[in-house]
Amino acid sequence: MELAKRRGFLWPSFELYGGASGFYDFGPLGSTLKNKIVEKWREHFVRREDSLEIDSPTLTPEEVLRASGHLEHFVDLMSECGKCGQSFKISELVKERTGLDVEGKPREEVEALLEEKGITCPDCGGRLGKVLEFNTMFRTTIGPGGRKVGYLRPETAQGIFVDFRRLWRHGRERLPLPVAQIGKGYRNEISPRQGMIRLREFTMAELEVFFDPENPTHPSFGKVAGERLRLWRAEDEMKGEERMVEVSAREAVEKGMVCHQLMAYYLALTKRFLMDLGLPEERLRFREQTPGQRAHYSRETWDAEVRTERFGWVEVAGIAYRTDYDLSRHAEASGESLSVVLQPGKRKVVCHVVEPSFGIDRIFYCVLETAYLQGRKGLRFKKELSPLEVGVFPLLRRDGLPEKAREVAELLKQRGFWTEYDEAGSIGRRYARADEVGIPYCVTVDHRTLSDGTVTIRERETARQVRTPLEKLPSVLSSLLKDELRFEEAGTPLEEKEEGEEEEEGEEG
Ligand SMILES: [Zn+2]
Repeated sequence: MELAKRRGFLWPSFELYGGASGFYDFGPLGSTLKNKIVEKWREHFVRREDSLEIDSPTLTPEEVLRASGHLEHFVDLMSECGKCGQSFKISELVKERTGLDVEGKPREEVEALLEEKGITCPDCGGRLGKVLEFNTMFRTTIGPGGRKVGYLRPETAQGIFVDFRRLWRHGRERLPLPVAQIGKGYRNEISPRQGMIRLREFTMAELEVFFDPENPTHPSFGKVAGERLRLWRAEDEMKGEERMVEVSAREAVEKGMVCHQLMAYYLALTKRFLMDLGLPEERLRFREQTPGQRAHYSRETWDAEVRTERFGWVEVAGIAYRTDYDLSRHAEASGESLSVVLQPGKRKVVCHVVEPSFGIDRIFYCVLETAYLQGRKGLRFKKELSPLEVGVFPLLRRDGLPEKAREVAELLKQRGFWTEYDEAGSIGRRYARADEVGIPYCVTVDHRTLSDGTVTIRERETARQVRTPLEKLPSVLSSLLKDELRFEEAGTPLEEKEEGEEEEEGEEG
């Protein structure tokens, strides 16, 4: 986190005024990294899947969230310390003290448990007050007068459900119909103390996949059927056993471990997406939520979890079978029909929904931590995810080298590379700075560049160097970043000493 702050990945929000917990700013490099993660998600879940993507408001009128059940169910149990006044989320407190999971348990039962276990304020040891239900949506009013109540959305999904009729027509009445939305979600956490893992404002990427309940299959299932899934089933968790079962997506369906093919399809796709971000397979698993842990709309939910050094296993996505809950509730509340007529046979159905929902900030944390653990001399991202892809340096700050190097940097930016130009300090110092933030390739312009039009490319991982003609540079870099070209094929290998000879003292300033 120290490195992340120093090099512009993450900054505490509102620092000037003492900060506010549950919020983070993405600095310049963090912003680019986050955008790249979002683009990857879009590639996996929108572009390749022919999904429809929409972008609806984050501020939502009360009637929508009453119909969706969030007014009633989006609650956490909390208690205030009678002595110091600090508020606590009870489920976290009980988990910390006793290891017990009280998520979804009734208020009275939890209150009795606090009493029985003698749980007191972790800050001052004071007695805790009554256990209260706290709705974790941020409430506001829309327009003057304060009569129309609204909330910052707790999920992007509702924006999709209320647009269902238009989406159905726009998608030319096909099933399964996947609809995506990426944007901010909000949760007024009672006492967030886990940095990036518990935020009050976060970025979600969600897919609502509408399908015929009599045909829960996916036309492309064959492509992922062999994908291995590590599953921790609810029945094992409820017996207190942390037992993983490893099966293919096909076996998971055939053996009834996962409710149907469509669900298994998205588990497999989720795994592929996470691995494409450079997260190691051995740190991934799917955990089935127990009935008490599941959200009010879900019949079966699998959490994709990533093992981190700092927080242990972290849930980064939930794949929920929401049934026809949302469409039926909105049809009932609005008085409008949200059923569709399927051909052939003119069968009238209310579509069911599978929802893969991703927490982009948590994924960001996992990617950053992985880059830190894997990089010996700073961060090491999967190359195409690096917020800076190429560093461009003039060897010296004279003889027309900076001008030429700026020209090269300009060319690379025009060609779409995230490029950083750096001329401050010795070349060794510049390489070290580039290595620290994970720039996979650095290009150095020297005297030879002026005479024969070639540059040096240095690979971060091995510090090896090759000499490549300028006109080939964009295509070579592009292939290197996609791992389509081996480094030794990127140009003529350079002797270790060759560039060192030209380097001179007195360049530090
Ligand atoms: Zn206290």
